[in-house]
Amino acid sequence: MSTPSNRPGRLGVGVIGAGRVGAVLGAALRSAGHAVVGVTAVSAESTERAELLLPGVPVLTVPEVVERAELVLVAVPDDHLPELISGLAQGGHWQPGQLVVHVAGRWGTSVLEPARAAGAIPLAIHPAMTFTGMSMDLDRLADCPFGVTAPAAVRPIAQALVVEMGGEPVVIPEADRTLYHAALTHGANNLTTLIGQATQVLEEIGVDEPSRVLGALSRASVDNALRSGESTLTGPVVRGDAGTVREHRLALAEAALASGREDVLRTYTFMARATADRAKDRGALSPADHQRVVQALGPDAPDSPDSPALPQEPTPPVVVTSPQEFRTLLRSRAVALGPEATVGFVPTMGALHDGHGHLVRQARAENDLVAVSIFVNPLQFGPGEDLSRYPSDLPGDLARLTELGVDVVFAPAVEDMYPGGLPLVRVSSGELGNQLEGSSRPGHFDGVLTVVAKLFALVTGGHQVRAYFGQKDAQQLLIIQRMVRDLNVDVQICPVAIVRAPDGLALSSRNAYLNDDERAAALVLSRTLQELAQGAVTVEQARDAINVQQIGAGPDTVELDYLTVVDPQTLQPVDPVPGTLALVAARVGTTRLIDNHHL
Ligand code: AMP
Repeated sequence: MSTPSNRPGRLGVGVIGAGRVGAVLGAALRSAGHAVVGVTAVSAESTERAELLLPGVPVLTVPEVVERAELVLVAVPDDHLPELISGLAQGGHWQPGQLVVHVAGRWGTSVLEPARAAGAIPLAIHPAMTFTGMSMDLDRLADCPFGVTAPAAVRPIAQALVVEMGGEPVVIPEADRTLYHAALTHGANNLTTLIGQATQVLEEIGVDEPSRVLGALSRASVDNALRSGESTLTGPVVRGDAGTVREHRLALAEAALASGREDVLRTYTFMARATADRAKDRGALSPADHQRVVQALGPDAPDSPDSPALPQEPTPPVVVTSPQEFRTLLRSRAVALGPEATVGFVPTMGALHDGHGHLVRQARAENDLVAVSIFVNPLQFGPGEDLSRYPSDLPGDLARLTELGVDVVFAPAVEDMYPGGLPLVRVSSGELGNQLEGSSRPGHFDGVLTVVAKLFALVTGGHQVRAYFGQKDAQQLLIIQRMVRDLNVDVQICPVAIVRAPDGLALSSRNAYLNDDERAAALVLSRTLQELAQGAVTVEQARDAINVQQIGAGPDTVELDYLTVVDPQTLQPVDPVPGTLALVAARVGTTRLIDNHHL
């Protein structure tokens, strides 16, 4: 065996692995004047390739190749390399002075240590090119960069081999080899995936030749980026066009719903976030625009650890009025957030106060996406009730919901919810709905359940839903819990404690009807419930206290409808013992108020 010098003389080359890279590099070394003495080929395909690119070279076993060669070119898959090298060392096949050259991108020469320990000379070269495994690859090796890693003393041998094959050696330190390979994979292989995804979307919308539509822009982007760097970036992210980014994501989410594949949406989001962060870092995107883009990308986008938290300007919720639009928007948003996304849903009749605010805050804290409905449901109002004058303040509600960080508001008109008139088929609340509120407001709970069932049908589908209801309407809460159980509705009902004004009055949209005297008189409800809970009065005394409560100085008093203590599960009257629930309903002037208290 000849002693290697900086310019290897004519060497006997053995090729382990006649894959695309091994066969082509073997042929290149042969063209450079070396003799290829043997090749391994396990599959029919590699045997054919060996015959084509290395005609006349004997196909041998691995030990035979190692035995005969002065230069062993190892071109096996990266993951097989360590085992192959150490296996040959254990078999005593490596020879002192033998050149062992592997072509795996990810490894330096440490993986060749078992061969080096046997006296072989370890070299790593990696052509930064894609191979077809055909003879045209040989021409493309001209000026192809090769990552070269080798101990300093023998590095010139690796460099010389690369030059002989027509390539251009680029020295990569041992410790950086994996990053070198990761960078190439990211900039080339992952780019192929991006092009594939873009092509798929164009195909899905019926574009005939996606590669032609995409080609000019893609090629120019790659060329510009390679020539002049990221300053050549164009597009909505670097323009700070958050609205467009948001629309892109919604459209991609809808496409994901249709195709059942979410990878494009996810990749778009991650890439756009990286694009925004890098544009901000080099001063191409202002912090405010960056913040807007990041908000448009939603919580799915990874945080860049070094971007300082900017004060968040609340983004108004998207407001929709059509049920179909509400359903699609919610589903696509949920898909955009990922398979584990949860939706918090808060149904209301509007005229929002801090009681509603509490429900929304809890929904916000517990879910990825929050939707609020505002709909005064005619179905749950009886004749002579306050349907026509029920308070409403959509602008005020939206301002409040913006502050609370709500994502979607569904505010349908009656015709949107009940096109063609009130529904024929309704949900019945049965026994639970005929007593208490139900006996004063016949049909009320059937109306509530029917609209809640319709809303649940819009918000469910493919994601987990939590719906938030106030304990203030205790009977309603219980009946809705019963409905989801009885009808297998896939919604988790989350009760929220009553929110009261500082003086104890339970917050209610209907409090807006009360004048000052009425409001003062209405306090008797919460006060007597409190006394009852503390055992300070009996149920009878509590009823009397309410009935004699004057409104202002005049002769009018509060009119009690019912005050009763019930089992919280069955609503059946029980003795006032701990764990039971006291419910009250009374008319204060023209306003009917309800309240309750656990004993
Ligand atoms: P409404 O708009 O009156 O239909 O109420 C919508 C939701 O808010 C229902 O689940 C109510 O129980 C809840 N809610 C209303 N007032 C309060 C309150 N003071 N405390 C807690 N929840 C409330």
